[in-house]
Amino acid sequence: MAGTHRQPEVNIGLVGHVDHGKTTLVRALSGEWTDQHSEEMKRGISIRLGYADATFRRCPEEEPPECYTVEERCEEHDVDTEVARTVSFVDAPGHETLMATMLSGAALMDGAVLVVGANEEVPQPQTEEHLMALDIIGIENVVIAQNKIDLVDAEQAHENYEQIEEFVEGTVAEDAPVVPVSAEQEINLDVLIDTIEETIPTPERDPDADPRMYVARSFDINRPGTTWEGLTGGVLGGSLVAGELDVDDDLELRPGHEVEEGGQSEWQSITTNVRSLQAGGEDVDTVSPGGLLGVGTGLDPSMTKGDALAGQVAGHPEALPPTWESFEMEVDLLERLVGAEEGETVDDINTGEPLMLTVGTATTVGAVTSAREGECEVNLKRPVCAEEGDVIAINRRVGARWRLIGIGRLQG
Ligand code: GDP
Ligand code: MG
Repeated sequence: MAGTHRQPEVNIGLVGHVDHGKTTLVRALSGEWTDQHSEEMKRGISIRLGYADATFRRCPEEEPPECYTVEERCEEHDVDTEVARTVSFVDAPGHETLMATMLSGAALMDGAVLVVGANEEVPQPQTEEHLMALDIIGIENVVIAQNKIDLVDAEQAHENYEQIEEFVEGTVAEDAPVVPVSAEQEINLDVLIDTIEETIPTPERDPDADPRMYVARSFDINRPGTTWEGLTGGVLGGSLVAGELDVDDDLELRPGHEVEEGGQSEWQSITTNVRSLQAGGEDVDTVSPGGLLGVGTGLDPSMTKGDALAGQVAGHPEALPPTWESFEMEVDLLERLVGAEEGETVDDINTGEPLMLTVGTATTVGAVTSAREGECEVNLKRPVCAEEGDVIAINRRVGARWRLIGIGRLQG
Protein backbone atom coordinates (compact mmCIF):
# COMPACT_ATOMS: atom_id res chain seq x y z
CA MET A 1 0.00 0.00 0.00
CA ALA A 2 3.03 2.32 0.21
CA GLY A 3 2.40 5.63 -1.50
CA THR A 4 -1.20 4.83 -2.29
CA HIS A 5 -2.59 5.64 1.12
CA ARG A 6 -4.23 9.04 1.28
CA GLN A 7 -5.97 10.93 4.01
CA PRO A 8 -9.61 9.95 3.90
CA GLU A 9 -11.89 12.84 3.05
CA VAL A 10 -15.16 11.55 4.46
CA ASN A 11 -16.31 9.51 7.47
CA ILE A 12 -18.86 6.79 6.88
CA GLY A 13 -20.50 5.14 9.84
CA LEU A 14 -21.09 1.44 9.69
CA VAL A 15 -24.13 0.57 11.74
CA GLY A 16 -26.47 -2.35 12.19
CA HIS A 17 -27.26 -5.33 14.38
CA VAL A 18 -24.49 -7.40 15.91
CA ASP A 19 -23.28 -10.24 13.63
CA HIS A 20 -24.92 -8.84 10.51
CA GLY A 21 -21.46 -8.39 8.99
CA LYS A 22 -20.16 -4.84 9.63
CA THR A 23 -16.64 -5.89 10.45
CA THR A 24 -16.51 -8.39 7.59
CA LEU A 25 -17.68 -5.71 5.16
CA VAL A 26 -15.03 -3.23 6.32
CA ARG A 27 -12.40 -5.89 5.96
CA ALA A 28 -13.55 -6.70 2.42
CA LEU A 29 -13.42 -3.03 1.45
CA SER A 30 -10.24 -2.03 3.23
CA GLY A 31 -8.23 -5.12 3.89
CA GLU A 32 -8.11 -4.07 7.53
CA TRP A 33 -9.70 -5.46 10.63
CA THR A 34 -11.43 -2.90 12.78
CA ASP A 35 -11.43 -5.26 15.75
CA GLN A 36 -7.83 -4.51 16.63
CA HIS A 37 -8.23 -3.73 20.28
CA SER A 38 -7.22 -6.85 22.19
CA GLU A 39 -10.23 -6.63 24.48
CA GLU A 40 -12.44 -6.36 21.42
CA MET A 41 -10.89 -9.48 20.02
CA LYS A 42 -11.56 -11.31 23.25
CA ARG A 43 -15.18 -10.31 23.38
CA GLY A 44 -15.64 -10.53 19.65
CA ILE A 45 -17.42 -7.19 19.49
CA SER A 46 -16.17 -3.71 18.74
CA ILE A 47 -16.05 -1.99 22.11
CA ARG A 48 -14.53 1.21 20.89
CA LEU A 49 -15.25 2.87 17.63
CA GLY A 50 -12.91 1.28 15.16
CA TYR A 51 -11.82 3.27 12.15
CA ALA A 52 -10.61 1.64 8.94
CA ASP A 53 -9.67 3.52 5.80
CA ALA A 54 -10.62 2.21 2.37
CA THR A 55 -9.45 3.52 -0.97
CA PHE A 56 -12.04 3.02 -3.69
CA ARG A 57 -10.45 2.57 -7.10
CA ARG A 58 -11.62 2.55 -10.68
CA CYS A 59 -10.51 0.45 -13.61
CA PRO A 60 -10.02 2.92 -16.51
CA GLU A 61 -11.26 0.32 -18.99
CA GLU A 62 -14.67 -0.16 -17.40
CA GLU A 63 -17.79 1.93 -16.69
CA PRO A 64 -19.58 2.21 -13.31
CA PRO A 65 -20.53 0.14 -11.47
CA GLU A 66 -18.22 -2.60 -12.83
CA CYS A 67 -15.17 -0.32 -12.77
CA TYR A 68 -15.15 -0.07 -8.96
CA THR A 69 -12.72 -2.14 -6.94
CA VAL A 70 -10.33 -1.88 -4.03
CA GLU A 71 -7.58 -3.71 -5.94
CA GLU A 72 -4.61 -1.80 -7.36
CA ARG A 73 -4.59 -3.86 -10.56
CA CYS A 74 -7.44 -4.74 -12.86
CA GLU A 75 -6.46 -8.28 -13.80
CA GLU A 76 -9.07 -8.54 -16.52
CA HIS A 77 -7.68 -5.61 -18.52
CA ASP A 78 -4.13 -5.89 -17.19
CA VAL A 79 -3.98 -2.21 -16.16
CA ASP A 80 -3.41 -0.27 -12.94
CA THR A 81 -6.57 1.08 -11.35
CA GLU A 82 -7.01 4.78 -10.46
CA VAL A 83 -7.89 6.20 -7.07
CA ALA A 84 -11.50 7.38 -6.90
CA ARG A 85 -11.70 8.37 -3.22
CA THR A 86 -10.36 7.39 0.17
CA VAL A 87 -13.01 7.07 2.84
CA SER A 88 -12.90 6.21 6.51
CA PHE A 89 -15.34 3.70 7.94
CA VAL A 90 -16.30 4.13 11.57
CA ASP A 91 -17.40 0.72 12.78
CA ALA A 92 -20.02 1.30 15.45
CA PRO A 93 -20.33 -1.32 18.14
CA GLY A 94 -23.42 -3.48 17.83
CA HIS A 95 -23.73 -4.38 21.48
CA GLU A 96 -26.84 -2.83 22.95
CA THR A 97 -25.26 -1.35 26.08
CA LEU A 98 -22.85 0.61 23.92
CA MET A 99 -25.39 2.93 22.37
CA ALA A 100 -23.65 5.98 23.80
CA THR A 101 -20.46 5.06 21.98
CA MET A 102 -22.45 4.64 18.81
CA LEU A 103 -23.96 8.09 19.28
CA SER A 104 -20.64 9.73 19.99
CA GLY A 105 -19.44 8.23 16.73
CA ALA A 106 -22.50 9.60 14.98
CA ALA A 107 -21.22 13.13 15.60
CA LEU A 108 -18.34 12.27 13.33
CA MET A 109 -20.28 10.64 10.52
CA ASP A 110 -20.92 12.30 7.16
CA GLY A 111 -23.08 9.40 6.08
CA ALA A 112 -23.72 5.80 7.00
CA VAL A 113 -23.97 2.29 5.68
CA LEU A 114 -26.67 0.34 7.50
CA VAL A 115 -25.86 -3.36 7.33
CA VAL A 116 -28.90 -5.64 7.47
CA GLY A 117 -28.58 -9.42 7.47
CA ALA A 118 -30.76 -10.87 4.71
CA ASN A 119 -31.21 -14.07 6.69
CA GLU A 120 -33.05 -12.59 9.68
CA GLU A 121 -36.36 -10.86 10.35
CA VAL A 122 -36.24 -7.06 10.00
CA PRO A 123 -35.72 -5.19 12.22
CA GLN A 124 -33.43 -6.75 14.81
CA PRO A 125 -33.06 -4.60 17.96
CA GLN A 126 -29.88 -2.71 17.04
CA THR A 127 -30.95 -2.31 13.43
CA GLU A 128 -33.84 -0.29 14.79
CA GLU A 129 -31.85 1.49 17.48
CA HIS A 130 -29.08 2.53 15.10
CA LEU A 131 -31.46 3.71 12.40
CA MET A 132 -33.31 5.73 15.05
CA ALA A 133 -30.00 7.30 16.07
CA LEU A 134 -29.18 8.21 12.45
CA ASP A 135 -32.66 9.60 12.14
CA ILE A 136 -32.58 11.84 15.20
CA ILE A 137 -29.03 13.00 14.62
CA GLY A 138 -30.04 13.78 11.07
CA ILE A 139 -27.58 11.68 9.07
CA GLU A 140 -29.37 11.70 5.77
CA ASN A 141 -26.94 10.07 3.39
CA VAL A 142 -27.58 6.42 4.05
CA VAL A 143 -26.87 3.30 2.00
CA ILE A 144 -28.39 -0.01 3.10
CA ALA A 145 -26.25 -3.07 2.54
CA GLN A 146 -28.46 -6.15 2.49
CA ASN A 147 -25.75 -8.57 3.53
CA LYS A 148 -25.35 -12.36 3.61
CA ILE A 149 -27.19 -12.66 0.34
CA ASP A 150 -25.29 -15.92 -0.18
CA LEU A 151 -27.31 -17.50 2.64
CA VAL A 152 -30.79 -16.94 1.19
CA ASP A 153 -32.64 -17.85 -1.99
CA ALA A 154 -34.22 -15.29 -4.33
CA GLU A 155 -37.61 -15.48 -2.66
CA GLN A 156 -36.19 -14.94 0.85
CA ALA A 157 -34.06 -12.07 -0.43
CA HIS A 158 -37.11 -10.41 -1.90
CA GLU A 159 -39.17 -10.90 1.26
CA ASN A 160 -36.33 -9.45 3.34
CA TYR A 161 -36.09 -6.49 0.96
CA GLU A 162 -39.82 -5.81 1.43
CA GLN A 163 -39.32 -5.87 5.21
CA ILE A 164 -36.44 -3.39 4.92
CA GLU A 165 -38.53 -1.03 2.79
CA GLU A 166 -41.41 -1.15 5.26
CA PHE A 167 -39.07 -0.63 8.22
CA VAL A 168 -37.32 2.49 6.84
CA GLU A 169 -40.56 4.20 5.82
CA GLY A 170 -40.81 7.62 7.41
CA THR A 171 -37.14 7.72 8.50
CA VAL A 172 -34.02 9.40 7.06
CA ALA A 173 -33.36 6.14 5.24
CA GLU A 174 -36.73 6.14 3.47
CA ASP A 175 -35.18 6.68 0.05
CA ALA A 176 -31.88 4.99 0.82
CA PRO A 177 -30.72 2.61 -1.88
CA VAL A 178 -30.64 -1.06 -0.85
CA VAL A 179 -27.71 -3.02 -2.28
CA PRO A 180 -27.68 -6.82 -1.91
CA VAL A 181 -24.16 -8.00 -1.08
CA SER A 182 -22.17 -10.78 0.45
CA ALA A 183 -19.33 -9.29 2.48
CA GLU A 184 -17.86 -12.72 3.04
CA GLN A 185 -18.10 -13.97 -0.54
CA GLU A 186 -17.28 -10.47 -1.87
CA ILE A 187 -20.36 -10.41 -4.10
CA ASN A 188 -21.66 -7.13 -5.58
CA LEU A 189 -19.13 -4.94 -3.79
CA ASP A 190 -18.58 -2.89 -6.99
CA VAL A 191 -22.25 -1.89 -6.92
CA LEU A 192 -22.00 -1.07 -3.22
CA ILE A 193 -18.95 1.18 -3.83
CA ASP A 194 -20.70 2.87 -6.76
CA THR A 195 -23.76 3.48 -4.57
CA ILE A 196 -21.63 4.91 -1.74
CA GLU A 197 -19.87 7.20 -4.24
CA GLU A 198 -23.25 8.46 -5.47
CA THR A 199 -25.07 8.69 -2.12
CA ILE A 200 -22.42 9.86 0.35
CA PRO A 201 -20.50 12.72 -1.25
CA THR A 202 -17.60 14.45 0.49
CA PRO A 203 -19.09 17.47 2.28
CA GLU A 204 -17.80 20.90 1.33
CA ARG A 205 -15.27 22.08 3.89
CA ASP A 206 -14.02 25.54 4.73
CA PRO A 207 -10.24 25.35 5.23
CA ASP A 208 -10.27 28.76 6.93
CA ALA A 209 -12.76 27.76 9.63
CA ASP A 210 -11.43 27.45 13.20
CA PRO A 211 -10.28 23.87 13.57
CA ARG A 212 -12.40 21.72 15.82
CA MET A 213 -11.35 18.20 16.74
CA TYR A 214 -13.49 15.75 18.67
CA VAL A 215 -11.19 13.64 20.78
CA ALA A 216 -12.40 10.04 20.85
CA ARG A 217 -9.31 8.39 22.35
CA SER A 218 -6.09 9.39 24.08
CA PHE A 219 -2.96 7.39 24.71
CA ASP A 220 0.42 7.16 26.32
CA ILE A 221 2.49 5.49 23.60
CA ASN A 222 5.64 5.11 25.69
CA ARG A 223 6.79 1.66 26.71
CA PRO A 224 6.86 1.07 30.46
CA GLY A 225 10.23 2.03 31.92
CA THR A 226 11.05 4.73 29.34
CA THR A 227 13.27 7.35 30.96
CA TRP A 228 12.04 10.92 30.89
CA GLU A 229 14.54 11.97 28.20
CA GLY A 230 13.05 9.38 25.85
CA LEU A 231 9.42 10.12 26.63
CA THR A 232 7.06 11.00 23.79
CA GLY A 233 4.25 13.43 24.59
CA GLY A 234 0.64 12.35 24.94
CA VAL A 235 -1.28 11.36 21.81
CA LEU A 236 -4.86 12.28 20.95
CA GLY A 237 -7.01 10.27 18.54
CA GLY A 238 -10.14 11.60 16.93
CA SER A 239 -11.51 13.54 14.01
CA LEU A 240 -11.51 17.08 12.80
CA VAL A 241 -15.01 18.25 12.02
CA ALA A 242 -13.98 21.69 10.76
CA GLY A 243 -10.92 23.65 9.66
CA GLU A 244 -7.35 22.47 9.34
CA LEU A 245 -4.64 21.71 11.85
CA ASP A 246 -0.89 22.08 11.29
CA VAL A 247 2.21 20.80 13.04
CA ASP A 248 3.45 23.44 15.54
CA ASP A 249 -0.03 24.93 16.01
CA ASP A 250 -0.93 25.87 19.57
CA LEU A 251 -3.70 23.67 20.88
CA GLU A 252 -6.34 24.14 23.54
CA LEU A 253 -8.47 21.35 25.00
CA ARG A 254 -11.84 21.97 26.59
CA PRO A 255 -13.32 21.32 29.09
CA GLY A 256 -9.78 20.45 30.19
CA HIS A 257 -9.25 19.23 33.71
CA GLU A 258 -10.36 19.86 37.26
CA VAL A 259 -7.90 21.94 39.25
CA GLU A 260 -8.00 22.37 43.03
CA GLU A 261 -7.30 25.84 44.26
CA GLY A 262 -7.65 26.86 47.91
CA GLY A 263 -10.16 24.10 48.63
CA GLN A 264 -12.18 25.05 45.54
CA SER A 265 -12.16 22.94 42.43
CA GLU A 266 -12.50 24.44 39.00
CA TRP A 267 -12.39 23.20 35.41
CA GLN A 268 -9.60 24.76 33.37
CA SER A 269 -8.78 24.20 29.74
CA ILE A 270 -5.49 22.54 28.87
CA THR A 271 -3.04 24.16 26.47
CA THR A 272 -0.26 22.49 24.57
CA ASN A 273 1.00 22.34 21.00
CA VAL A 274 0.91 20.01 18.02
CA ARG A 275 4.22 18.12 17.71
CA SER A 276 3.22 15.62 15.02
CA LEU A 277 0.20 14.62 12.96
CA GLN A 278 -0.79 11.25 11.58
CA ALA A 279 -3.51 10.68 9.01
CA GLY A 280 -4.19 7.82 6.64
CA GLY A 281 -1.44 5.91 8.43
CA GLU A 282 1.27 8.44 7.52
CA ASP A 283 3.03 11.38 9.15
CA VAL A 284 1.76 14.62 7.64
CA ASP A 285 2.25 18.37 8.19
CA THR A 286 -1.37 19.38 7.91
CA VAL A 287 -4.73 17.65 8.32
CA SER A 288 -8.29 18.39 7.24
CA PRO A 289 -11.62 16.74 8.16
CA GLY A 290 -12.09 13.06 7.37
CA GLY A 291 -10.81 9.91 8.97
CA LEU A 292 -9.03 9.27 12.19
CA LEU A 293 -6.19 11.56 13.19
CA GLY A 294 -3.38 10.99 15.58
CA VAL A 295 -2.12 14.20 17.16
CA GLY A 296 1.18 14.04 19.01
CA THR A 297 1.20 16.77 21.65
CA GLY A 298 3.54 18.27 24.20
CA LEU A 299 1.33 16.97 27.02
CA ASP A 300 2.65 14.86 29.85
CA PRO A 301 1.68 11.33 28.68
CA SER A 302 0.21 10.56 32.10
CA MET A 303 -2.53 13.05 31.21
CA THR A 304 -3.52 11.21 28.03
CA LYS A 305 -3.16 7.65 29.32
CA GLY A 306 -6.12 5.27 28.99
CA ASP A 307 -8.47 7.60 27.10
CA ALA A 308 -8.34 10.15 29.93
CA LEU A 309 -8.94 12.96 27.43
CA ALA A 310 -11.67 11.23 25.40
CA GLY A 311 -14.65 13.54 24.97
CA GLN A 312 -12.58 16.74 24.93
CA VAL A 313 -12.72 19.23 22.10
CA ALA A 314 -9.42 20.51 20.70
CA GLY A 315 -8.70 23.57 18.58
CA HIS A 316 -6.75 26.81 18.46
CA PRO A 317 -6.57 28.70 21.76
CA GLU A 318 -9.44 31.15 22.33
CA ALA A 319 -11.25 29.80 19.26
CA LEU A 320 -13.22 26.96 20.83
CA PRO A 321 -16.89 26.86 21.84
CA PRO A 322 -17.59 27.52 25.54
CA THR A 323 -17.45 25.03 28.39
CA TRP A 324 -20.79 24.39 30.07
CA GLU A 325 -21.33 23.16 33.64
CA SER A 326 -25.07 23.42 33.24
CA PHE A 327 -27.33 24.32 30.37
CA GLU A 328 -30.84 24.48 29.10
CA MET A 329 -31.86 22.30 26.20
CA GLU A 330 -34.78 21.93 23.91
CA VAL A 331 -36.02 18.34 24.16
CA ASP A 332 -37.55 16.11 21.56
CA LEU A 333 -38.57 12.77 23.08
CA LEU A 334 -39.10 9.57 21.14
CA GLU A 335 -42.62 8.25 21.13
CA ARG A 336 -41.51 4.89 22.42
CA LEU A 337 -38.33 3.16 23.50
CA VAL A 338 -36.43 1.74 20.58
CA GLY A 339 -35.64 -1.94 20.44
CA ALA A 340 -38.21 -2.49 23.19
CA GLU A 341 -41.33 -4.56 23.64
CA GLU A 342 -44.49 -3.11 22.11
CA GLY A 343 -45.99 -0.35 24.13
CA GLU A 344 -42.95 0.79 26.14
CA THR A 345 -43.56 4.51 25.84
CA VAL A 346 -41.19 7.28 26.88
CA ASP A 347 -42.38 9.22 29.92
CA ASP A 348 -41.71 12.93 30.33
CA ILE A 349 -38.44 14.04 31.88
CA ASN A 350 -38.77 14.75 35.62
CA THR A 351 -37.01 17.30 37.77
CA GLY A 352 -34.32 15.52 39.79
CA GLU A 353 -33.79 12.57 37.49
CA PRO A 354 -30.32 11.71 36.19
CA LEU A 355 -29.80 11.64 32.43
CA MET A 356 -26.82 10.45 30.47
CA LEU A 357 -26.00 13.01 27.81
CA THR A 358 -23.77 12.50 24.79
CA VAL A 359 -22.42 15.69 23.25
CA GLY A 360 -19.93 15.19 20.42
CA THR A 361 -17.65 12.49 21.78
CA ALA A 362 -18.29 13.49 25.38
CA THR A 363 -20.57 11.54 27.67
CA THR A 364 -21.66 13.08 30.93
CA VAL A 365 -24.35 12.58 33.53
CA GLY A 366 -26.66 15.50 34.16
CA ALA A 367 -29.15 16.02 36.95
CA VAL A 368 -32.35 17.66 35.77
CA THR A 369 -32.87 20.85 37.79
CA SER A 370 -36.03 21.93 36.05
CA ALA A 371 -38.22 20.26 33.45
CA ARG A 372 -41.00 21.76 31.38
CA GLU A 373 -42.74 20.55 28.29
CA GLY A 374 -40.20 20.45 25.46
CA GLU A 375 -37.25 21.74 27.45
CA CYS A 376 -35.22 21.13 30.56
CA GLU A 377 -32.24 22.39 32.52
CA VAL A 378 -29.43 20.11 33.59
CA ASN A 379 -26.52 20.37 35.98
CA LEU A 380 -23.57 18.39 34.63
CA LYS A 381 -21.32 16.16 36.71
CA ARG A 382 -18.58 16.80 34.16
CA PRO A 383 -18.73 19.91 32.00
CA VAL A 384 -18.75 19.73 28.21
CA CYS A 385 -17.42 21.96 25.45
CA ALA A 386 -20.19 22.65 22.94
CA GLU A 387 -21.90 25.26 20.86
CA GLU A 388 -25.47 26.51 21.08
CA GLY A 389 -27.56 24.40 18.73
CA ASP A 390 -25.38 21.28 19.12
CA VAL A 391 -27.25 17.98 19.20
CA ILE A 392 -27.32 16.08 22.47
CA ALA A 393 -28.36 12.44 22.74
CA ILE A 394 -30.47 11.93 25.87
CA ASN A 395 -30.41 8.59 27.65
CA ARG A 396 -32.39 7.50 30.70
CA ARG A 397 -31.71 4.54 32.93
CA VAL A 398 -34.35 1.90 32.28
CA GLY A 399 -33.78 -1.29 34.25
CA ALA A 400 -30.10 -2.16 34.03
CA ARG A 401 -29.12 0.01 31.08
CA TRP A 402 -29.14 3.49 29.66
CA ARG A 403 -31.69 3.81 26.90
CA LEU A 404 -31.95 6.45 24.24
CA ILE A 405 -35.09 8.50 24.90
CA GLY A 406 -34.63 11.47 22.62
CA ILE A 407 -32.46 14.35 21.54
CA GLY A 408 -31.83 17.77 22.88
CA ARG A 409 -30.46 20.93 21.36
CA LEU A 410 -28.25 23.12 23.48
CA GLN A 411 -29.95 26.44 24.08
CA GLY A 412 -27.57 28.17 26.44
P1 GDP B 1 -20.63 -7.53 13.00
O1 GDP B 1 -20.97 -7.92 14.40
O2 GDP B 1 -21.77 -6.81 12.35
O3 GDP B 1 -19.34 -6.79 12.88
O4 GDP B 1 -20.51 -8.91 12.17
P2 GDP B 1 -19.21 -9.69 11.66
O5 GDP B 1 -18.60 -9.01 10.50
O6 GDP B 1 -18.35 -9.98 12.83
O7 GDP B 1 -19.88 -11.01 11.09
C1 GDP B 1 -20.58 -11.93 11.92
C2 GDP B 1 -20.52 -13.32 11.32
O8 GDP B 1 -21.19 -13.36 10.06
C3 GDP B 1 -19.10 -13.81 11.04
O9 GDP B 1 -19.03 -15.16 11.37
C4 GDP B 1 -18.94 -13.60 9.56
O10 GDP B 1 -18.03 -14.50 8.99
C5 GDP B 1 -20.35 -13.83 9.04
N1 GDP B 1 -20.63 -13.09 7.80
C6 GDP B 1 -20.44 -11.77 7.57
N2 GDP B 1 -20.82 -11.44 6.32
C7 GDP B 1 -21.27 -12.58 5.73
C8 GDP B 1 -21.81 -12.89 4.44
O11 GDP B 1 -21.94 -12.05 3.54
N3 GDP B 1 -22.17 -14.17 4.24
C9 GDP B 1 -22.04 -15.15 5.18
N4 GDP B 1 -22.41 -16.38 4.88
N5 GDP B 1 -21.54 -14.89 6.40
C10 GDP B 1 -21.16 -13.63 6.69
MG1 MG C 1 -18.04 -6.07 14.34
